[in-house]
Amino acid sequence: MASRAVKKVTVIGAGFVGSTAAYTLMMSGLVSEIAFIDVDAGKVEGEVMDLNHGMQFVRPVKIKVGAYEDCAESDIVIIAAGAGQKPGETRIDLVHRNAAVFKNIIGNIARITRNCILLVVTNPVDILTYVTWKFSGFPRSRVIGSGTVLDTARFRYLLGDHIGIDARNVHAYIIGEHGDTEVPAWSLTNIAGISMDEYCMRCRMCNGQLSRENIYAEVRNAAYRIIERKGATYYAVALAVRRIAEAILRDENSILTVSSTLEGQYGIEDVALSLPSIINRNGIERILDVPLNDKENELLAKSADSLKNVIKELGV
Ligand code: NAD
Repeated sequence: MASRAVKKVTVIGAGFVGSTAAYTLMMSGLVSEIAFIDVDAGKVEGEVMDLNHGMQFVRPVKIKVGAYEDCAESDIVIIAAGAGQKPGETRIDLVHRNAAVFKNIIGNIARITRNCILLVVTNPVDILTYVTWKFSGFPRSRVIGSGTVLDTARFRYLLGDHIGIDARNVHAYIIGEHGDTEVPAWSLTNIAGISMDEYCMRCRMCNGQLSRENIYAEVRNAAYRIIERKGATYYAVALAVRRIAEAILRDENSILTVSSTLEGQYGIEDVALSLPSIINRNGIERILDVPLNDKENELLAKSADSLKNVIKELGV
């Protein structure tokens, strides 16, 4: 990562997700420069104008229509370009369209720089994280997918809401694919060190197993439900992007369930998926070897296999 005092981010894709991510970064005070790139010149200009008109209410940040040259000075390049899910469409359905968009974008970035961290948000995010790693030639540690950071946030929110405790005090992770095969790591879930099993045994206010299944289904189907109602999801994912950027720019060593290309962890390799990982200025410092139970290990392997099948079909 560039060691200049100025913290700069380039955002590629000025759609719902890219522009909301830029807005959260603008408000965060974390960066002093945001360059925005989109093939739709009018759209990106409009977003830049709109954001700049709020400048007097935030700490100064230079926001401009950018070009790929901006990636050279950027600490992080966020990629949110490409098509979104239509109602009823799975994330995997998007793969061919968005892989073609990525070939072009990653080629443009890699021609300019090899020093930044690439943060992939476009869906299917795990496949495109792998594609980005392959096409860019960057080290695995600097190709990060937003992965299940959003799903983990949804999981913690719903669990916290169910038991009446601040979501920030619920320790829980969704791992694997950001999509239909994602895995709730129930065995790792705890509240103030009390395992979820123990917590449920003491509480007995609901049918524990049924509630768990409902909460997991709500997490897994959240994007479908939101897209049915409002056409796209962007607020929570933009906050997730801001959180990942913060962990990188502030060198935090924070644990986040980002997606990255595995090299043998849990017996899985040559596919990108999410596991609790330590994030700092180098990108992914380390993927944690968290103890999963047999069922979770099996589901994680299935999630990896299903992603591998898509990669095979794409032929990258
Ligand atoms: P959108 O259609 O509003 O925006 C996409 C933008 O990409 C458009 O402005 C388009 O002009 C631009 N674009 C297309 N090709 C480009 C190229 N080659 N170079 C530069 N810009 C290009 O879509 P959206 O709602 O912002 O969603 C963007 C992506 O984010 C989708 O794939 C969506 O599924 C994904 N998403 C991911 C998560 C997550 O958790 N990872 C959550 C929500 C959405």
